[in-house]
Amino acid sequence: MSAPARKRELGRGERVVPGVYRLRLPLPWPGVPHCNAWAIAAGDGVVLVDTGMHEPGSFAHLERAMAQVNLRVENVKLVVCTHAHSDHYGQAATVIDRTGCELWMHPNHEHMTSSAEDPEQALERRLEVARQSGVPAEPLRAYAEARRGQGFGIARIVAPDRDLLPGVQLHTDLGTWQVIETPGHAPSHVCLYQPEKRMLISGDHLLGRVSLYYDYGWTPDPAGEFLRSLEAVEDLDARLALSGHGRTFTDISGHITANRLLVAERLEACLRVLGEHGPLTAYEAVPHVYGEAITALNANWWLSETLCYLQHLEVTGRAERLAGDEEQAERWRLA
Ligand SMILES: [Zn+2]
Ligand SMILES: [Zn+2]
Repeated sequence: MSAPARKRELGRGERVVPGVYRLRLPLPWPGVPHCNAWAIAAGDGVVLVDTGMHEPGSFAHLERAMAQVNLRVENVKLVVCTHAHSDHYGQAATVIDRTGCELWMHPNHEHMTSSAEDPEQALERRLEVARQSGVPAEPLRAYAEARRGQGFGIARIVAPDRDLLPGVQLHTDLGTWQVIETPGHAPSHVCLYQPEKRMLISGDHLLGRVSLYYDYGWTPDPAGEFLRSLEAVEDLDARLALSGHGRTFTDISGHITANRLLVAERLEACLRVLGEHGPLTAYEAVPHVYGEAITALNANWWLSETLCYLQHLEVTGRAERLAGDEEQAERWRLA
């Protein structure tokens, strides 16, 4: 199944406040038409926060977006990534090769870098998780076929020159930004906070439109980590969020509440389906959690999100898993 043809956008740049530029870069993904990179003035150049994805023609979009705000890639003094997903880290190597600058990123980036290093093993691992979750053999075979040989959207794996951890200070013309660890969406996720301006570069942790996604299988409880990371950001008193997708927004506490409510709703839905139909596989649970059938487009996303909720319920003592084996998928029931 292929996505409907859609007019591709071009990279666009705009000034948000003096010294902060939004670089809106197109993405090839259905439902996620673009991502944001942020250029922040720093002395005679800029710090580039996030990079856009690597694919044919993608670097021209970054150049075009920068040119619209009178910047050039050569002005980049430092690349900082909010997390290692391809739409935020994909072109880091390209920018670094062009400028010779450093990359700063959180050290827990293996959720992407180890997969990109060994795509075949990463695919096998994903297929095994899907099989264990009860995905039937035929759609799984079709998925493997479609996925095999596809790139990761990353120009080249490049390790951070500096680990982006709390205590690291990022100096710009707007002042110094602090690093806030916000795992959940991805183990490598951080937000950057500028306390005097009360500005938060929120990456994919907080988006203008609530959209939940977790990397499954790298940490014990991604949904729980995400909830704790909402607290970490709530404590900051930020008033302007520069997010990884979509427009900037101001009502940060409202967005935090909306995220919490949606997580709570989906956890409730998981508990309800386990109560009414359990024990059942994660795959069987998905349509009940979302109120919609699984399709080729949403399967991957919804299955890993549901697995993260089931895992969170297990960690917090509300659900338990019945181990599977070679033939039987893993099943879940109320604890
Ligand atoms: Zn992401
Ligand atoms: Zn993203």
